[in-house]
Amino acid sequence: MPTTGSPTAEKLTPAQAWSRLAEGNRTWAAGNRKCPEESVQRRQEAAPTQNPFAVVVTCIDSRLPPETVFDQGVGALFVVRTGAQTVDDLVTGSIEYGPVEHSTPLIVVMGHQRCGAVKATVESLEKNHPLPKHLNSIVDSVKPAYEQARAKGGDIVDQTIRSQTLSTVAKLAADPALSPMVGKGTLGLVAAYYSLDTGQVSVLQTIGFRPS
Ligand SMILES: [Zn+2]
Repeated sequence: MPTTGSPTAEKLTPAQAWSRLAEGNRTWAAGNRKCPEESVQRRQEAAPTQNPFAVVVTCIDSRLPPETVFDQGVGALFVVRTGAQTVDDLVTGSIEYGPVEHSTPLIVVMGHQRCGAVKATVESLEKNHPLPKHLNSIVDSVKPAYEQARAKGGDIVDQTIRSQTLSTVAKLAADPALSPMVGKGTLGLVAAYYSLDTGQVSVLQTIGFRPS
C-alpha cells in the first residue's frame, strides 16, 4: 500500500492525513528522514495525475520546506508559501484548489519560530516606519495579529507568530468555499508551529477533527 499521497492512494480522513504528516515530522526531527517517493519510477507514476493528501500553507523561510519537514515526496502535498503565511484573495484561491478540485482532506497552516517576516513587521509597527513597497502589504496583513499579541504580553514576536497562524486558520475555516466541507467533516484544518531548534511541529489548534 502506498505510504504517501500517490495517485493510487486511498482517500484519507482529515485525522488520517494529519497523522501521516505528524509521523513524517517525527522522522525528520529525529534525523531519520526516509525521503519517500523520490525515485524516477515515482516521478513517472505521478506524471499523469495527482492526489495530494494535504495543503500546507507556510512562510517563505528557507529553513522549513514542507516536503522536508514532513518527510514527504513527489505528489504528496500542495504547498502555498507567503511571508508570515499571510493570505489574500489570490493566495486563498490557491489554497482552495486542493479541497475544491481534488477533495484534499487537510489544510495545515504552519508558522515558525523566529519568523523574519513577523520580526520585520513588529519592528516596522513599533518604530512607525513603513517597509518599502509591497513588503508593507505583509505588515498590513500581520498587524491585527500583532495587536492581539500586544494585548497578551510576553515575547511579542513569538506571540505574533502564533496569533498570525491562528488568524489565518480562522479565515480559511470561515471561507465560503471551505467551511461547508469543514461542516461535513471532509476537510480539517490545523494551526501548527514549527521549531527551528528542534525540527518539531506542534499543534496550536485543530478545526473539524480531533487528532487521533
Ligand atoms: Zn517566516
